[in-house]
Amino acid sequence: MAAFKNIKSLGVLKNKRVLVRADLNVPMKLDDEGHRIVTDDTRILSVTPTITTLAEQGARVIVVSHFGRPKGERNLDMSLEPLGQPLANATRLPVSYIDDCIGEEVIETIDAMEDGSVLLLENVRFYAQEEANDLEFAKLLAANADFFVSDAFSCTHRAHASTVGVAKILPSAAGIALEKELVALENALGNPKRPVAALVGGAKVSSKLEVLTHLVEKVDHLIIGGGMANTFLAAQNIDVGASLCEHDLADTAKAILKNASENNCKIHLPTDVVVAKEFKANADNRTISINDVDSDEMILDVGPSSANNVAASLAKCKTLIWNGPMGAFEIEPFDNATVIIAKAAGALTKAGSLISVAGGGDTVAALNHAGVAAQFTHISTAGGAFLEWMEGKKLPGVEVLLSK
Ligand code: AMP
Repeated sequence: MAAFKNIKSLGVLKNKRVLVRADLNVPMKLDDEGHRIVTDDTRILSVTPTITTLAEQGARVIVVSHFGRPKGERNLDMSLEPLGQPLANATRLPVSYIDDCIGEEVIETIDAMEDGSVLLLENVRFYAQEEANDLEFAKLLAANADFFVSDAFSCTHRAHASTVGVAKILPSAAGIALEKELVALENALGNPKRPVAALVGGAKVSSKLEVLTHLVEKVDHLIIGGGMANTFLAAQNIDVGASLCEHDLADTAKAILKNASENNCKIHLPTDVVVAKEFKANADNRTISINDVDSDEMILDVGPSSANNVAASLAKCKTLIWNGPMGAFEIEPFDNATVIIAKAAGALTKAGSLISVAGGGDTVAALNHAGVAAQFTHISTAGGAFLEWMEGKKLPGVEVLLSK
């Protein structure tokens, strides 16, 4: 990966106006009085080191973010105003809020800011020009600041005015969280220690086709679990009964398997599975060979023998990239294989023999469920951007930060 600029490259920041692109699109709910409150502050905590570092250096920090999909219209249900207090709590800095993100009043407010303080701008997607990456709108955003710092990895797959447009106008750099993320991803797939294993699970092949296609050319082991394994098994004429399966993708699955063997990528598919007739917690179930699935049974988890084989393979690997659960991990006991493998990967990482990188919403939930998220080398909370990175795509919000 070419070098990208970080905060240090911006030089002296005292008295400078720095526009920080955060991802404050955090989960919220209404409290008893009808106020919107934050239910998961992971993304607020993620941007906090960048904000406090800039403020400590005497910068005026202006935070810009989107929230939800207001489709270019002012919709107060998606206002960022309720994020001001949580941001102040996390950064322990004075945070003020203004109900717009561009224009004279915003600029006057910024001019009146104390050095080392923070201003939170209103939802940038209240303007349709944001998602259109409109140049004139990007210029108006850029007029708020001397420098731009991007610290929202989860938004880097979108070429919008606040992720790409403004970075083309102002001297720009990656924030602390983005820098950490990019280094971790580079170590996992760009220039990894081998052997490298990728574990791809989740519901459907169709949603991760490009991921699988790219990975077989990059990794030494591809471990396929979850509902998507069924499609690969069925393509090899194994009867998967009533399981979730995309039979129409049989040829695609065969092509991926062929490509894997041409690229010396070993594919791991389950040889034993846990089946049930109902998709519900503690449904009657049995653990059987993959060849013994009855027509009314669904495969809801990889079997323990296969899960232990995966764990043994990981012990011989130096790097692991993980996206997607091995089974229907939200309902017990079909979380078993995910937990076995997650614990094995966590222990190997803790022992220093494995670099483990995981990402995507369900994957983070699964690793938290197994209680091993903290043991992983790096966990990305980005959904779409993480998958696009796994697909080998260039992320426009990262490309724009690369040193020319
Ligand atoms: P994804 O968003 O593609 O990573 O898929 C995650 C979802 O896949 C989770 O909600 C799991 O419950 C589901 N899943 C994993 N394995 C299976 C399976 N064997 N059958 C049905 N759903 C599954």
